Amino acid sequence: MSCEARELLLPVTEIRRRCTGESHQSLYPLCRPGTTAVSIASAATREQAELEAAVFFTVCKIGGVSAHPLGIHHVRPQAQRLTIRLLAEPGVIRYWAEMLLPRDNIECADPRDRVGGVCGLRSRTGNGGVHLYRPGHTGRLLLTGFPAHWWDRVTQRVQYNYTALFTRPVWTPIEQAAYATLRASALEPPLIGSPLLRRIRATAGPGPVNSTDAWTTLGGIRLETTDGPPCDEFIRLFTDGPCGLGWQVETVSCACHRGREEHLGCMVDFRMPNTEQYVYYSNLRWNRTMDARRRELLAEMNQRAFTD
Ligand SMILES: [Zn+2]
Repeated sequence: MSCEARELLLPVTEIRRRCTGESHQSLYPLCRPGTTAVSIASAATREQAELEAAVFFTVCKIGGVSAHPLGIHHVRPQAQRLTIRLLAEPGVIRYWAEMLLPRDNIECADPRDRVGGVCGLRSRTGNGGVHLYRPGHTGRLLLTGFPAHWWDRVTQRVQYNYTALFTRPVWTPIEQAAYATLRASALEPPLIGSPLLRRIRATAGPGPVNSTDAWTTLGGIRLETTDGPPCDEFIRLFTDGPCGLGWQVETVSCACHRGREEHLGCMVDFRMPNTEQYVYYSNLRWNRTMDARRRELLAEMNQRAFTD
């Protein structure tokens, strides 16, 4: 395909690029004649969606360390797998490993708290990155964007600091118990967490610092960005567009276009289609900049990544 022909297809990949952070170059082979947009595949199986939701709700506490929410540069959603390209910063890789890899919190009695990290999660490096999976399950995640030996090094640190469960080849009984409880409680709704992770870049605004957080609440989840996109753009991406999720807008309190109230945050309540599940979204609109303190924080994280 000529460069000109490729450029003509830019509008066809635009919405997906906005949602995933992928490049036009990587997406134009997916453009089919006559279609106006490239859509985003859903997770093919319940186990795939569960794994993605568990990862999403676990790592979203990272806060704002860069322009990339959760340290994610872009994602590549496929039905059977989700590839996540992370920022090549040792501190970000350490954070992901430390949050995700399961360990035994011996002092906790409640089965949900007994396992720290994502229960049943195992990792192996090779074949293009770090593979995350649950033995016996269909879900697959691939982490890329950084040297694989970083993962081995940070994993050794996590193993040293905690009672590691991720070194066992199969699920341990306490992980099975935690998983069963979690599955019954709907604390990590896979139908929200997985599609959100597959569109994580849509939660990032244009500023140099972005953080996206989410947690379960009565009847759904709370989703919070500190510096998200303007509400009209956010609504456009998550409702009926070609990559949208069909979320229905229930109430909007938006100060994006009101100059005097610029310091105010915005709130949009969405209802998931044909359910009583809600996404209560707030954009705090802090307008953060990459100041010296934030740069120091990342430098500190990097410095301690392989040693602490
Ligand atoms: Zn707004």
